[in-house]
Parts: sequence; C-alpha cells; structure tokens
Amino acid sequence: MQVSHSFIIDNISELITMAPLQKEQRFTRIVADDLGIIKDAWLEIADGKVAACGSGQPPGQKLGIPRIDAARQIVFPGFIDAHCHPIFAGNRAGEFAQKLAGKTYQQIAAAGGGIQSTVRATRNASTSELLELTQTRLQRFLRHGVTTVEAKSGYGLGLDHELRLLQVLRDAAQSTPQEISVTCLALHAVPFDAASKDQFIDQITNELLPEVKRKGLADWVDAFVETGYFTPADCDKYFTKAKDLGLGIRIHADEFLDSGAAAAAANWQAASADHLQMTSDEGAAAMAAAGVVAILLPGTSLYSKIPYTNAARFKAAGCPIAVATDFNPGSCVLDNISLAATLAAVHCGLSGSEALAAVTWVAARSLRLEHRKGALVPGFDADFSLFALGSADEWIADLGRTLPSAVYRRGNRAD
Ligand SMILES: [Zn+2]
Repeated sequence: MQVSHSFIIDNISELITMAPLQKEQRFTRIVADDLGIIKDAWLEIADGKVAACGSGQPPGQKLGIPRIDAARQIVFPGFIDAHCHPIFAGNRAGEFAQKLAGKTYQQIAAAGGGIQSTVRATRNASTSELLELTQTRLQRFLRHGVTTVEAKSGYGLGLDHELRLLQVLRDAAQSTPQEISVTCLALHAVPFDAASKDQFIDQITNELLPEVKRKGLADWVDAFVETGYFTPADCDKYFTKAKDLGLGIRIHADEFLDSGAAAAAANWQAASADHLQMTSDEGAAAMAAAGVVAILLPGTSLYSKIPYTNAARFKAAGCPIAVATDFNPGSCVLDNISLAATLAAVHCGLSGSEALAAVTWVAARSLRLEHRKGALVPGFDADFSLFALGSADEWIADLGRTLPSAVYRRGNRAD
C-alpha cells in the first residue's frame, strides 16, 4: 500500500527514537534512557522523512493530515542488518549434519565442503536464478522488520564470477523495498581453480577492485581474515588498493583464532570488524581507538557450535557494538534480526537497550548511514516497523517470535 506524502501514525504505545544518541552522536555506553522512548506517541511522516513526533495527541494544526491508528503497538526504527551473505545457490544442510556428528568447520572445509561447495553451486546457477533467490531472501529479512541490508558477494571468487554477483546485488537493490549496501567479499577464500594464492590476490587487487569501482558495483570491500584463509599481511595490498579507490573496509576477524585481524582492522581504518570471538584485549583497544565498530554475529555461534563473542571486552575497550545475522548457507542460516539481538543479549552479554541500539543506531554507524538511518528524528528516513508488543522490554524477551504488522521504508509500506 502506498500512502500519501504526509501522514501521522498515532496511538503508539512506545516510539523508539534513539534521539539522545543521535543528538550526541554517541555509539557507546548505551543505557535505557538513550533509546529516547516516547510513550503514548505520534509520528508524522512527510515526503519519506520523519517530520515530527511527540506524546499525546498531535497538535491541532495537524488535524487535516491523514491518520493511521497504531492500535497501541510499538514503533521501532527500521532494523539494519549490517552483515549478511544473501547471494548464493545450493544449500549445505548435509554439512550441518556433519557438525552435529562432531566435525569442525575446518574439517568440513578440508574435505571440499564449506565455502568452496557453495562457490561451485553458485557458479553453476544462472543469473536470473541468483536474482530470484536473492530477492526471496531479502523478502524474508523484510518480514522481520529489516529495512536496510548489507549484502556481501563472495561465492563467485574470481574476476568475472564476483562481478556477476555484485551486479545481481545491485539489480536486487532496484527491485526490493529495502536499501542495500553492497560489499565485495572477493577474499572470502582462495578458489579451487586459482593458480596460487598470491596470483589470486594480485588479480583481485589489480583487476577486480578497479572494475568494481569503475562500475559502481560496491560500497565496501571485505576479507575473511582467518587462519587457513587470509592473513593480515595477505590483505595489505587489497585493502590499500580499496582505500585508494575510495571503497570502505569491513573485515571478518578472529572468528576461530586470534590472527591479529582486529588490530589490522584498526590499522586499515575499517568501518567494522565482525565475529571477534578470539580477539585479544589489545585488539579490542586498537579497534576502539580507531572507532571500528565491533559487529557481533551470535547466530553463527549457535548454528556452528563455536564460542560466543564476549561483549564485555569490547564495552570495556570503548568499542561501538552492532549485532547482525551473518545469514549464509553454511555457518548460519538465521535471517531473524530480533532473534540475533536476543542471542547477543543472552550469550554475548548485552543489555536489552544495547541490543536494540546494536540493530539500529550503531548498525547504521557501521554502514556510515547514521546521518539518515538508525533513529527516528526529524529529517531522517522514515524507515520503521510496527510490532504488536507493549514495550522494548517485551521485544528483547520475545526471542524474535513476533513479526511486525507493518514495515515502512521512506514513508511507504514496504511489506
Ligand atoms: Zn560473514
């Protein structure tokens, strides 16, 4: 349903604005008051932006504006999933069975499974098939109230294969109601058909990245900096080139072992370092000093039977903390951002308020969108969802069971 240029949603039980954090441009030390909750609220939208909000009845001069009755529901800023892998073909349910039988991620990969098995299936899929699969997955994110998605390539691996996936992600962005921030994850693994690791990295760095920039196919570049995949030294040329081209940096860091990836992320001035189970206190301190957002991905710990990231380490260091799903075919098939937030609260050690900020305001910061997303304040994009829950406390306690009754992006019904 499209709505008129200007309208008011009223009779809201709680409107979560994040206004104090937005006002102070603060991403750390988050407490309940920082959520900027307005009780018995109304929210005015004009031309796709938040125009005004308040408590009680909207002022008299707004009487002529169309109304939508929220029926005492809660309104959240549109959720932002800042780490996911939605473009691939095939599935790896068989590997999940192997994990249940005690095999590790590394053992499965060594036997030809893992990322390489998805690369094979993805390369064999047609472009139209990949577009349809991606659109279907993005719709599932939307059903959970996610209005902005960071989407990574990484299952093509190789010049033409990655270019094709990035183009499909850009095409998907045109046909989905969500905003898509595209990441070129060209260093996800060394593909099975590469002559050597060094030659592969050289080709990606010298040929792929300039082409990605020239065609405007990605906003970010990413690498799987992990023992057995890429070391910080392997990535130096790649990230230096990305920076020279004006592409932002995100990093898969220290998921299985501390490979120094967190400190490297700080050196490269990455926007985010993600996973971080094995990061040292020194790595966390370096990230904090460089303003790198720590993105926690607790769904992967649940699904892959690996440790959860200890949020206390990053809070103590002063890192901004976001939470995302890490939706992907192998290590985490979770597409429910609210469940990811509750997992981060229970297992990583976030408060409910921190978890909510982690999927809105801080997630926006990790994508450099905090000037227009992640909060509901005048001038910001009118991205929001209505949930039949009485309070933010009910949301974090709900384990992601409740789906929003309506999702809006830039003032239009998106669901
Ligand atoms: Zn990932």
